[in-house]
Amino acid sequence: AKSEGRNTVEFYTSDMTDEVLKRMMFASQLRSALDDDQFVLYYQPQYDLSTGELVGVEALIRWQHPQLGLLCPEEFIPLAEETGLIVPIGDWVLRRACRTLRRWMDAGLDLNRMAVNINLSSKQLRHEHLSEQVLNVLKEFNVPAENIELEITEGTLMHDPKSAATVLQRFMDEGIEIAIDDFGTGYSSLSYLKRLPINKLKIDRSFVQDIPESQSDMEIARAVIALARSLNLKVVGEGVETEAQAAFLREEGCDIGQGFLYSKPIPEHEMVAHFTENALS
Ligand code: C2E
Ligand code: CA
Ligand code: CA
Ligand code: CA
Repeated sequence: AKSEGRNTVEFYTSDMTDEVLKRMMFASQLRSALDDDQFVLYYQPQYDLSTGELVGVEALIRWQHPQLGLLCPEEFIPLAEETGLIVPIGDWVLRRACRTLRRWMDAGLDLNRMAVNINLSSKQLRHEHLSEQVLNVLKEFNVPAENIELEITEGTLMHDPKSAATVLQRFMDEGIEIAIDDFGTGYSSLSYLKRLPINKLKIDRSFVQDIPESQSDMEIARAVIALARSLNLKVVGEGVETEAQAAFLREEGCDIGQGFLYSKPIPEHEMVAHFTENALS
């Protein structure tokens, strides 16, 4: 029994080593992905639910991995967060999004009412020079603050709402709007919500996907919309996949819709065609 036990332990140990090695390798690949220009941004359109007007796009990162192909953020953002690489990667996302926005503007597209939404992770929010860094990038690419919006998850904000408030206030003073992402999943304290300098709530996709079958999800969506109303915030419905979901959200007074019903995230180089098509239709 003793030797059997030892074998089990040895097996387990070498298995662990494999896992650790795999993670280390993946982390070092993630590190070189920045230098090797392997990240790409996709953009998912957001529409005003009452006018149908394009009001924004959300920038969503992917990793074009040399062996594994196109990886979704779920497959590498957690490791990027753990290793701190999310800070330089987030900086890349911001710069790339601003560069692209500048190009769209230079191409003569009318983007006056349109904002590029950028996701910020908690490590970025806690970085002491975040606001200076963001403002410098806007200046460098000559992009108006009104055309940039930052998305921060409810969980990230509630982790340290007091210091988050200071950073967000700085953004708001400059005219950069803030949306709370994945709203409804993170137990916001309503008193903090009232005091935080924010402009928008994004109803989490999990509350939209089972509309109209789930009575309780409809109640939650309704409650979030009512809450947003009373706090004078705009509200975005995420993950809208069906006409029925869009109709429900519109009737309840949700301002903006985003989801596969309208469009999947689109690669950067296809966006200009998308804008032009939309303008013509
Ligand atoms: P998120 O911010 O909640 O982004 C929305 C996600 O929902 C995107 O997944 C989008 O493709 C997906 N989605 C949109 N509409 C629908 C729909 O109708 N149905 C379904 N089933 N899904 C829909 P994606 O692109 O895989 O991104 C996943 C998450 O990764 C994002 O969730 C965000 O938290 C994170 N992420 C993406 N890009 C960045 C980034 O640049 N920085 C950071 N920190 N996080 C990012
Ligand atoms: Ca805006
Ligand atoms: Ca988001
Ligand atoms: Ca979300």
